[in-house]
Amino acid sequence: MEKKELYRQIPKMDALLADPVMQQLITKYDRESFVSVAREQLESIRAGIMGGMSAEQFRHAIDGLDVSIEVGLKQRYEMDLRPVINATGTILHTNLGRAPLSPAQMKQICQVAGGYSNLEYDLDTGARGERYSHFEQLLCQITGAEAAMAVNNNAASVLLILSTLAKGGEAIVSRGELIEIGGKFRIPDVMEQSGATLVEVGTTNKTHFDDYLSAITEETKVILKVHTSNYQILGFTESVGIRQLSELGREKKIPVIEDLGSGALVDLAKYGISAEPVVQNSVRDGADVVCFSGDKLLGGPQAGIIVGKKAYIDRMKKNPLTRAVRIDKFTAAALEVVLKEYLSQERAVANIPVLRMITESRADLQMRAELLEKILCDAKKTKEPSLLSDAEITICDCQSMIGGGSLPMERLDSAAVRIWPKSGSATELEERLRHLPVPVVTRIAEDAILMDVRTMTEDDIRIFETQLGDL
Ligand SMILES: *Cc1c(COP(=O)(O)O)cnc(C)c1O
Repeated sequence: MEKKELYRQIPKMDALLADPVMQQLITKYDRESFVSVAREQLESIRAGIMGGMSAEQFRHAIDGLDVSIEVGLKQRYEMDLRPVINATGTILHTNLGRAPLSPAQMKQICQVAGGYSNLEYDLDTGARGERYSHFEQLLCQITGAEAAMAVNNNAASVLLILSTLAKGGEAIVSRGELIEIGGKFRIPDVMEQSGATLVEVGTTNKTHFDDYLSAITEETKVILKVHTSNYQILGFTESVGIRQLSELGREKKIPVIEDLGSGALVDLAKYGISAEPVVQNSVRDGADVVCFSGDKLLGGPQAGIIVGKKAYIDRMKKNPLTRAVRIDKFTAAALEVVLKEYLSQERAVANIPVLRMITESRADLQMRAELLEKILCDAKKTKEPSLLSDAEITICDCQSMIGGGSLPMERLDSAAVRIWPKSGSATELEERLRHLPVPVVTRIAEDAILMDVRTMTEDDIRIFETQLGDL
């Protein structure tokens, strides 16, 4: 058939809009999206004709228009941001959204975060309130600090603290602590942004008390200590603890700030995790201002938490920059919910997913690994999906990581289900898992897929089970 004749047979938009089947789609979705998707589909048929499409192919495309338009509409309405199953074993996986919250916590957050709330409204007086008021007391109670506030993330905390306390002056930092955290957060760059001048002291591996002492001048505004969260210097090292620095600061009347990064509120040493600084200890040891992330070891929403002496926190609350980095109502709600768990350390470890995952026993992990292995072996017996049919499925020991730049050397003994596709490739299986309706993110080790159950809940395993047919 002539190309011209095919072009002529392409339905007109008016005809599509009047078609009863198409009208159902318009009712189900919306007219604007329908027109735009339909136009795309007709355009691609036109391009097909230009490229030499046969009459038969043309008929096929026209007959399938309702289906292809519906698929296009569905895609437009589908959430691009969606839940995934984390089978990597990395607990604070920054690419997967760091700390997960529990369903019970989410339920409480949903009750207040959607509608109107007393976010900045004092219900006692009917006057304007403060958005930190809902969790400031809690933070003081948990950490022992005089005052507290929260901003968008911990990078913003550091920027705000330096801009409030050190702008136009000098900030002393040890050379061994001039870190870069992922995502281009470098202490020297943040320092520059804040308007403070960086004064480096000591060397990469050793910084002594006297290095700080001799760097203090008339211009010194703050002493900053940064926790080297994501790396460790081994061998001949020396650094000055926060207690000694705080004494120096008190004597010289210079505020001492500590950026703890992860900021554990529970001492994880009790659970066999080698020393990660605890916020309470820094406050007790005299730090004037301490900041840390909300979504690292704390296990809450993305936030930067700042605690310390009231006089300094008050100055930060008044800094205009605070307005630019303030938390929203979702974060305020989530912080209050998660911080309430810390009223008892036992509750915190039981109810906060990050802490639960870090402290889970090998025996409990084994049980979930056995459940997952059984599900996979049962699926294998039915020879469906085919990628599993000749795979070797076993439980193996593996090591999980905490991630998020926290405790880089720490490995947690864990259990994984190992899928070794003898004839197929692990790369192909990994990709298929990633394309499931609820994607499963795994890692590959020695041509096999490892599914570390430490970061998978039993619900995750059940959801995975329902998707095996799609694999
Ligand atoms: C992670 C980290 C930050 C940045 O915190 P975010 O909440 O990711 O912005 C800053 N300082 C240290 C020491 C960190 O470990």
